[in-house]
Amino acid sequence: MIRLIAALSLLLMSVPAAAQPADWSRPFPAHRVIGNLYAVGTYDLACFLITSDDGHILINTGLAGSAPLIRENVESLGFRLEDVRVLLTMQAHYDHAAALAEIKKVTGAKLWATAADAPLLEDGGASDPHFQGEYTFAPVPVDRVLRDGEVIELGRIRLTLVESPGHTPGSATYTMTVSENGRDYRVAIANMGSMNPGLRLSKDPTYPGIAGDFARTFRRQQAMEVDVWVAAHASQYGLHDKYRPGDPYRPETFVDPGGFRKLVAHYEKLYQEQLAAEGR
Ligand SMILES: [Zn+2]
Repeated sequence: MIRLIAALSLLLMSVPAAAQPADWSRPFPAHRVIGNLYAVGTYDLACFLITSDDGHILINTGLAGSAPLIRENVESLGFRLEDVRVLLTMQAHYDHAAALAEIKKVTGAKLWATAADAPLLEDGGASDPHFQGEYTFAPVPVDRVLRDGEVIELGRIRLTLVESPGHTPGSATYTMTVSENGRDYRVAIANMGSMNPGLRLSKDPTYPGIAGDFARTFRRQQAMEVDVWVAAHASQYGLHDKYRPGDPYRPETFVDPGGFRKLVAHYEKLYQEQLAAEGR
């Protein structure tokens, strides 16, 4: 009975399956991106594990049903989900945040979030200015609000928060330096400035200040010095072009500074086009 109620409540909280691309829930093997950064998400919904001897950080969770897949992926790498101490998100949307509540419960990890995305996480997306309650997820309490530029520390992990608002009011990019084979790699776990269909920038904006937020995000991301980068969707960072399951680990696999600049420019162009269209 309890299982039935849990299943029903999951159904009620999530969106119709038809609205979700199959790639979002299709399993994909966990793999090492570079150094202590691992990908543990699904075929397209990226989740990242950053490991240390003093516990791990998990960024994103995927859809509500993703927790077992993430656990399997974490364990396949030889780590324990229970050793996750800090949970982070790149954006408070249901396709990246829906399993946070469940994973928080089983790990006892703390959820740290930006000031602007914290309310969306805490009300399960009910206050999302774009989806307006259409796509909701299990609400999850935020334990600490992060400031822009703050260095998140856990064991030897040093992760810098770069606010990247627009896609959601508190979207976040995280950067760190990884040393491998005597070389330092600048790594970005980047939330891209993509616009969901129907977003409004200037006329009747989705939220006040959204156009300026996107502009600031593009400016900052264009200025970032990046060697290795990943994003919230595997399709955005070309995971399946860069890596095939079973490929041996090489620190260079995800080195792609040109690809990052190109994708930032791509989303900025779409933004400029939308601004122009709204001005007509
Ligand atoms: Zn989103």
